[in-house]
Amino acid sequence: MKRIKTTETVNKIEEKVLVKGWVHVRRNMGKIVFLDLRDRWGILQVVVVPSELDEASQELVKDIRPEFVLSVEGVVQARGEKQTNKDLATGTVELLANKIEILAEAETPPFEIENEDRQANEELRMKYRYLDLRHERMKNNMVVRDKVISYLRNWLHKEDFLEIQTPILSKSTPEGARDYLVPSRVHKGKFFALPQAPQQYKQLLMVAGMERYFQIAPCFRDEDARADRSPGEFYQLDMEMSFVSQEDILQLVEKMFTEMVKELFPEKKITQEPWPRLNYEEAIKKYNSDKPDLRKDKNDPNELAFAWVVNFPLFTPQTEEDKFHGAGDTMGPTHNMFTMVKEEDVELLDKEPLKARSYQHDLVLNGFELGGGAVRIHDMKIQEKIWDLIGFTDKQKQEFKHYFEAFKYGAPPHGGIAPGIERLIMILQNEKNLREITAFPLTSDARDPMMESPSEVSKEQLDELGIEMKK
Ligand code: ASP
Repeated sequence: MKRIKTTETVNKIEEKVLVKGWVHVRRNMGKIVFLDLRDRWGILQVVVVPSELDEASQELVKDIRPEFVLSVEGVVQARGEKQTNKDLATGTVELLANKIEILAEAETPPFEIENEDRQANEELRMKYRYLDLRHERMKNNMVVRDKVISYLRNWLHKEDFLEIQTPILSKSTPEGARDYLVPSRVHKGKFFALPQAPQQYKQLLMVAGMERYFQIAPCFRDEDARADRSPGEFYQLDMEMSFVSQEDILQLVEKMFTEMVKELFPEKKITQEPWPRLNYEEAIKKYNSDKPDLRKDKNDPNELAFAWVVNFPLFTPQTEEDKFHGAGDTMGPTHNMFTMVKEEDVELLDKEPLKARSYQHDLVLNGFELGGGAVRIHDMKIQEKIWDLIGFTDKQKQEFKHYFEAFKYGAPPHGGIAPGIERLIMILQNEKNLREITAFPLTSDARDPMMESPSEVSKEQLDELGIEMKK
């Protein structure tokens, strides 16, 4: 017999079916035992009456405990009006078991799976993440994540975007955070860097004539955790388009997310359509924030207040801790060093560069920065000027010679954006932290308690890489 989903039983009354899954709860009622059987789709009540079971099954019923994996054959029965369980998708039926097989036994889990209210501390949840993911809420977050990503992917394909994978073993990129480095064995003393974002690659794809690119892009930043930042890795919906104005980018992104919300989250309402646009200065003056929360009712879990913030200053005065690659001595790029200055402010670059405004756009949702982007510089004379203004040395400029070179061969005007996937889904799901949206995240202090990474490696591995540990 072919196994069916627990949720399919509602259409199979009086039929013999086979279901498989985990024991969610066991309830003993004298001779009768009720087993709630859980699979990815739902929970089904299985009624175990000894006289209805074959002999082998009768024997093993006493051993069955929560989280055992079972195969159950039986007949689907309609429940009477009074017995209907409105909380279950299968609440109108139950399965009268004829044959039970134990496919796997289970030890008592370190925390309860069936009781979501009694959550274990996060360290324990992360150590046993595969059990934590059995919780209905966590499973649901994974389901929604998949739905959102596949919706966006299809939407962009319909709009003629190409999904292109860019390298993970890459080069140090100037996104303003610390890089994760990977030592090269073949070229000793040299290092790859994991990309903080595929920024240069996507711009080079525009030079290559791909015109419309996107990627569900893994990004790696060695940052200390904050509520809306994850240490380690996260995903962006990375996008770039050629021959577009800032207006085109804003409109496309607005249309994409609005349609997504209407299709996948019909219960949610968008506070204002079209989305409000704020000037950076106005946002700071009025809300003292460049990512204001514009919800009318901050307690309404279904309100989504999208907004654009535009007209950012091209440069921001630098603090000590900002001085990573790309950040200058006295000022650094507000978004990144590839952001185009507003044409009318080009002259200010020579006189009062801190007053020059840029084509940066930030997408804000319920007080979070969902992502930023910009129209890029495609005139290398301006690019050089920006580098000079942020105090790039000749040596630093050399690091970008491939980029400089590429733009000599016909670079179209282009721009894009990169909204964070986890942040988006965190807000949609009303979760408080990004880890709830990630199957196997790192802790806030950048560890994986389950795999126990990062970990030491053998001396042989280090020797091969030409690396010696400092005492
Ligand atoms: N690469 C940028 C970032 O990670 C996004 C963009 O400018 O498209 O913030």
